[in-house]
Amino acid sequence: MVRSKSHIAEIILPFLSDLGNCAARTAAATGDIILPRYCAVCGRTLLLHEKFICIYCLADFPFTYNWNMPHNRMADRFNEMIQRDIITSKRQNSDLLIQAESYAYAASLFFYRGESAYRKIPHRLKYHCDIGIGRHFGKMLGKKLADAGQFSDVDMVIPVPLHWRRRWERGYNQAAVIASETAAALGAALREDILMRHRKTRTQTKLDVRSKMENVRQAFRIKKKFLANPPAAGHILLVDDVFTTGATIHACFLALRAVYTEDTRISAATLAFVDNG
Ligand SMILES: [Zn+2]
Repeated sequence: MVRSKSHIAEIILPFLSDLGNCAARTAAATGDIILPRYCAVCGRTLLLHEKFICIYCLADFPFTYNWNMPHNRMADRFNEMIQRDIITSKRQNSDLLIQAESYAYAASLFFYRGESAYRKIPHRLKYHCDIGIGRHFGKMLGKKLADAGQFSDVDMVIPVPLHWRRRWERGYNQAAVIASETAAALGAALREDILMRHRKTRTQTKLDVRSKMENVRQAFRIKKKFLANPPAAGHILLVDDVFTTGATIHACFLALRAVYTEDTRISAATLAFVDNG
């Protein structure tokens, strides 16, 4: 029986592909034996198909689902700060903020309280150079936002910048790791060159809300070359790793509002929302 070339290819190619998959799985399994991987949340040894967290921690993953809810606790916290500034600027007759600011959208992938083990996810990205975990959950966040109506028209993604010295010490900006995956999922432009942190701020962990606001207020500004002519955008998404008081995101919002009118919507997204009640 004479078999055609295409018939032979039909038989051989899936076999080669299976062989390739098998080789990749064997290499991954061997890698797991030599250098075992552990769940970032509970510390259990990960199985071959598990990525960064185990199936049990994934089953209990505290998704916020707030990407589908324009009004949620994170957005409320963010908007309270925006409204406070509008009232203050009205009182002082300042035209810094235009009065017609619409309710800003904000969403995070998951939330945690206090000492929850899920806090280890952003912690590993920020302090243990685990860029892979940031990419993994950043991609997950991006997919959720892309599927949600309120974020689907985002055309520019801006990560919260680090001061150049901290960026140099750490070697990367954790917010930019998340932002690049989010921008890719949304099909938006990633712009790390517009906003800059010109003042090195104190670590915020132990500060109360008021002190945090004072600490970051005016820490950010638009780069000089964009002051007169900022790149056009209809919907900007500010991205950070964690949203606690919202003071950092809000300070970035104010810096952007100095050059973008309210025709440009400015929203916020983070990996985690710290729910302190
Ligand atoms: Zn686990």
